[in-house]
Amino acid sequence: MPWVITKLCRDCVDQSCVEVCPVDCIYGYAGEASDVPNQLFINPEECIDCGVCEPECPWEAVYEDERVPEVFSDDVASNARVADEQDSFAVPEVDEKDKPSEDQIKANKEKWNLND
Ligand code: SF4
Ligand code: SF4
Repeated sequence: MPWVITKLCRDCVDQSCVEVCPVDCIYGYAGEASDVPNQLFINPEECIDCGVCEPECPWEAVYEDERVPEVFSDDVASNARVADEQDSFAVPEVDEKDKPSEDQIKANKEKWNLND
């Protein structure tokens, strides 16, 4: 089953996931539409289910599709959009390291009521 990047990723500039994905199936949106959030997406047709990206993500934004929290259920479809509209997505260039702090990560999850 493919993995899914959720809204916890929004505005991330770290992109550690892109660096480790062995099949380059993590994409950013490169099209003209204004309704696509600033996050990355996994092409479910290319993901080989290795799970390598999940522990690399400092924001804990990556889930197996069966384990995506209900609050992010629409992200399964937003990731699948990559396969449907491949010309509008591109693997991003990773040229910057900007690791978030633990407080930033916690605050990002609190927005979705995911902290204990
Ligand atoms: S490392 Fe995590 S938060 Fe950053 S771009 Fe990848 S999935 Fe998004
Ligand atoms: S699970 Fe593996 S193949 Fe799928 S996006 Fe993550 S690193 Fe890439």
